[in-house]
Amino acid sequence: MRPPTITDALRARRLLADHLPPTPMWSYPALDAAVGATVLVKHENVQPTGAFKVRGGLTLLAGMDPAERAHGVVGYSTGNHAQSLAYAAARFGAPCVIVMPEHPNPVKERAVRALGAELIEHGPDLGAAAEHAAKVAADRGMRLVSAADEPDLIAGVATAYLEVFEAEPALDAVVVPVGGGSGAAAACMVAAAVAPGCRVIAVQSAASPAAYDSWRAGVPLTRPSRTRVEGLATGSGFPLTQAMLRSHLADFTLVDDDAIAEAQWTLMRDAHTLAEGAGAAALAAVLADPARFAGQRVAVMCTGGNAGEREIRACGGLTAA
Ligand SMILES: *Cc1c(COP(=O)(O)O)cnc(C)c1O
Repeated sequence: MRPPTITDALRARRLLADHLPPTPMWSYPALDAAVGATVLVKHENVQPTGAFKVRGGLTLLAGMDPAERAHGVVGYSTGNHAQSLAYAAARFGAPCVIVMPEHPNPVKERAVRALGAELIEHGPDLGAAAEHAAKVAADRGMRLVSAADEPDLIAGVATAYLEVFEAEPALDAVVVPVGGGSGAAAACMVAAAVAPGCRVIAVQSAASPAAYDSWRAGVPLTRPSRTRVEGLATGSGFPLTQAMLRSHLADFTLVDDDAIAEAQWTLMRDAHTLAEGAGAAALAAVLADPARFAGQRVAVMCTGGNAGEREIRACGGLTAA
């Protein structure tokens, strides 16, 4: 599989121009003061599906051969990849089947159905859902779309980082949450091309360290996935995104789920932003080690805002008060 290049990202940006406006990136005085750095929050939570992945879904569907597209796409996901595919399929009039592990986040489940996709709940985890999705795709002659190892998804997601560096060419670091690694792989590819001095730092939950351990070991590994943070809950490293991380990632850190919940609360209080856990993980990593960023200009990717109701009620200071 060929890794996408900056040329693919520029092409994706042209495709997406008809579908999505650029998202804002702001700093907030209280957040800057808490960290002792200029913290720029890239607001992917304001995408129409509530997460950055829609950039990838639209790019993939736009690039498909029309005959293949007419047969439709199958995805497996805990939620945001599903919404991305369902949204893009609806835009292009293509059938879409989504396989989710049983008992999905009701907010994401409702959103997928509302977008007109067929939803199948199968298996206890994403691995089981993935296997079933492959079977559905084979049986029905539909295109199976991986959650991470898809060059078109990564090229689409890379447009977020084109926007980041266009808005702030002199960043010292960009901090990216990782599940399958498409976002961090895209960040590495774009930074290497347009901002080689900017460190790309990846973050994963300590309770689901597959991508982290894969990167440290230099080979894709499988690990238990026990995080309650949906967007970060993956059990194995993906070969394509891992290869892209190896070529440019400056560092990879782990944060625990409670620190992520605390950062969700901080985003709510200081940045007027409702983030889902995965959308607050980058900030959690910065708050865990502010000295490392002192006086610098740091972008944190707020990748999504699809928090479930229970998650919102439980988050950080809401219960501590
Ligand atoms: C999918 C997702 C992530 C992780 O992105 P990958 O590209 O899979 O590494 C982070 N945050 C949110 C909100 C997500 O939906």
